[in-house]
Amino acid sequence: MRSLSIFGATGSIGEQTFDLLMRAGGPATYRTVAVTGGRNAARLAEMARALRAEVAVCADPADLATLRDALAGTTTEVAAGSQAIADAADRPADWVMSAIVGAAGLVPGLRALRHGRTLALANKESLVTAGPLLLAEAARHGARILPVDSEHSAIFQALNAEDIAAVERIILTASGGALRDWPLEALASATVSQAMAHPNWAMGQRITIDSASMFNKALEVIETREYFGIDPDRIEVIIHPESLIHSMVGFRDGAIMAHMGAPDMRHSIGYALNWPDRADLPVARLDLAQVATLTFRAPDPVRYPALRLAREVMAIRGLAGSAFNAAKEIALDHFLGGGIGFQDMAGVVEDTLARLSGEMRLGNAALTLEDIQGMDVLARIRAGEAARIRAGNRQQAIGA
Ligand code: NDP
Repeated sequence: MRSLSIFGATGSIGEQTFDLLMRAGGPATYRTVAVTGGRNAARLAEMARALRAEVAVCADPADLATLRDALAGTTTEVAAGSQAIADAADRPADWVMSAIVGAAGLVPGLRALRHGRTLALANKESLVTAGPLLLAEAARHGARILPVDSEHSAIFQALNAEDIAAVERIILTASGGALRDWPLEALASATVSQAMAHPNWAMGQRITIDSASMFNKALEVIETREYFGIDPDRIEVIIHPESLIHSMVGFRDGAIMAHMGAPDMRHSIGYALNWPDRADLPVARLDLAQVATLTFRAPDPVRYPALRLAREVMAIRGLAGSAFNAAKEIALDHFLGGGIGFQDMAGVVEDTLARLSGEMRLGNAALTLEDIQGMDVLARIRAGEAARIRAGNRQQAIGA
């Protein structure tokens, strides 16, 4: 029986992974080693019960008692804290889902790779902040990383193990997010709930806002560069409002392989779960006559400054990915908290990168986990400072 663990089980990707596992027979088909969550101990306990997990781990030690009570009478062990989550990655499992959101997902994924596991990687921040380290560890320990992000799963499938040297370009599709048709001058006043109204995909809160700002696409461009080892000049982004083509690979003979399907993350999760085979998945089938038209347009660089910032980060490499991701997370926190406006997020990231570039050489080639984590901490401090300046300016502008 295949064994597996789910890191970030209580989130959007984790729930969809759970759904696929339960549809496939749950504990009758898979041996679940570890499930981990953040704050939602009650839901984590339900999942652990249903899957008969060996261990359930929540992020905050304050939730341990709730988790323990909810799992009383089962054989599931309980633990709490970021160290315990990382330790759960040491437990033997054939397949590991990395679906914790943000920089907290890096260490458990890295630990799983060091044990030679197959890592289904949803946590895009891992590749953005530590791509070279992750790939080197995977190669050293004979581990495999399977992309879960729908775009990268699409590229992986369209590439079909062909030589990357035959690839002329990779074309990432983007929905354009909730605000794509708003007048530019209205963006400054966009609220969280307006940015959350994603036209096609149902996702967690943070990634949905990142989709509206295209910081999500910016992360994906960097992720593409790291995972597929392709030159940044060969990575294109195209707005495709229908979200039915999940990405494309253009080969040097002019052929373009496009991956199509309904916008449902259970496709790419299920693909990674069943790889190298394909299994029946409970996703809607496209009725192409009904679809009738697919449309595309180039992204406006003024509306989406995050895409330009991603190119700058790829030009620097080294610790720039870590700085970029941390600054983006802090900028998003400040937008969610109401301190800064929607468009200030890109400004905060830009200010942070400029300030850090002035303080040190971000393009340090020899990356260790400590370097990356150190940069994560520093960039969060700098981004917090930048956000407070922008929040102050905003207050003054409102008051004026
Ligand atoms: P969610 O916010 O829905 O879920 C995140 C998960 O991580 C939850 O289980 C949450 O626990 C847990 N978590 C949060 N903070 C911590 C922490 N500090 N330590 C440990 N666990 C924590 O995110 P998504 O599922 O949307 O996204 C997960 C990852 O997958 C992200 O990197 C995202 O970019 C990526 N991704 C997501 C897609 C999607 O469709 N949702 C598509 C492609 C990629 P709890 O809820 O219990 O607090």
